[in-house]
Amino acid sequence: MSDFRLYNTLSRQVESFAPSDGTTVRMYTCGPTVYNPAHLGNFRTFLFEDLMRRVLALRGWKVHQVMNLTDVDDKIIKRAQEQGKTITQVTEPVIQIFHRDREYLRIQPAEAYPKATDFIPQMITLVERLVERGVAYQAEDRSVYFAIARFPTYGKLSRLDTREIKSGARVIQDDYSKENAQDFALWKAAKPEDEATGAAWDSPWGRGRPGWHLECSAMAMDLLGETLDLHCGGIDLIFPHHEDEIAQSEAATGVTFSRVWCHGAFLLTDGAKMAKRVGNVASVQVLREEKFSAAALRHFVFNTHYRKELNLSDKALEASRQAVRRIGDFADRLNGESALALGGTAELGTAADEAVAAAEKALFDDLNGPEALAALFDFVRRANAELDRMGGDRASVERARAAFARINGVLDIVPDRESADAVLESWIEELLALRRDARARRDFAESDRIRDELKGRGVVIEDAGGETRWKLE
Ligand code: AMP
Ligand code: ZN
Repeated sequence: MSDFRLYNTLSRQVESFAPSDGTTVRMYTCGPTVYNPAHLGNFRTFLFEDLMRRVLALRGWKVHQVMNLTDVDDKIIKRAQEQGKTITQVTEPVIQIFHRDREYLRIQPAEAYPKATDFIPQMITLVERLVERGVAYQAEDRSVYFAIARFPTYGKLSRLDTREIKSGARVIQDDYSKENAQDFALWKAAKPEDEATGAAWDSPWGRGRPGWHLECSAMAMDLLGETLDLHCGGIDLIFPHHEDEIAQSEAATGVTFSRVWCHGAFLLTDGAKMAKRVGNVASVQVLREEKFSAAALRHFVFNTHYRKELNLSDKALEASRQAVRRIGDFADRLNGESALALGGTAELGTAADEAVAAAEKALFDDLNGPEALAALFDFVRRANAELDRMGGDRASVERARAAFARINGVLDIVPDRESADAVLESWIEELLALRRDARARRDFAESDRIRDELKGRGVVIEDAGGETRWKLE
């Protein structure tokens, strides 16, 4: 079987990859902080991870993916305090929206979505181990910190000396009474707002709450074991988050925390990172309202390599919408009854085999989405030409169907009928509302124009008893 390679941030190289037990990839992916619905930037990373799990499965491995939900942090507590709620009351609805959006984008579910607040005992145990080993200390402010000076390999992931990453805002926000400014909080002493919002727990160091980095180490090791095969996230997490996860985990266990680290590049808008702070975020909700299907967004995201920055624009999304339509039309043709009845040619079978080989080669070489898509489009072009010849060979049509299903099973960019119907329906409803308004202001020319526009798309309308009904011709 062909080699499988991934770019490992730890070594800064594309390396051969296989799960350590030969069968199941144990994969941890940092999930959303659930104080606001995730934006398309977050979903670019989650789509990269969806591609990862589907490609791993295509390669023949089982995948055990864990994605945490950060349901306790500064922003959540602030929101809860402002609204007079508990943190759970803030996070629960956001978690529901996350899963609804995830399903809309056809991101396969992870095997587990642990919430930080459900793993407090495991986190306390981990901090106890670090204190026992002398790499963590309680400071005057009663918080417990990790002493990076006592962990010699600190910085191996981000290569601190050469990195250009500025230390994240999340570190700067912390209160300091520490040995070293870079020491990070494992356990934060409770403040009144933490108590008021249900974000404080008992611990050997007094009431408090976990630091952000701690949750991932504790949950990853509890659910996947002390050494993971693969840890993924967006590029901004390399420092300090993942550096700190490595420090906490490896200082406690003495073994490698994750064998391989993969990071996805940012989604940008007008050249700037999409982020709440910048105020340039777009949501899945907006995508839906503007009738961009999951297929179009998946095509848009996968058409750029996950390690390259990607700029969101209406033009690019529109181009993806067109590309997806082309794939959808081809899928309808290939899977329709007449394709089988008319049959294919020997060349159709060859094109199918070559398409699968080319797509797998691309995907197994560090998830090369754009090359896999190019292989798919090449196949669509060749297969359409062969189908035109009506060669009578049913087996080649079956082979082409299987090839298409195999490649699309990973990229998942065929627009499904159901969502196409939903898009048509909402378009019709919109036009009918415009027509109602036009009639209300006695603008019958406009009302007739809308009727004709609908008719042009095969929608016939009927006014009866003050109501308008429609049906497809
Ligand atoms: P957060 O909810 O901020 O912890 O982020 C969840 C995930 O989204 C992390 O893996 C981040 O690295 C990732 N992320 C945040 N902003 C972007 C962006 N603009 N483009 C791609 N990934 C992002
Ligand atoms: Zn994490």
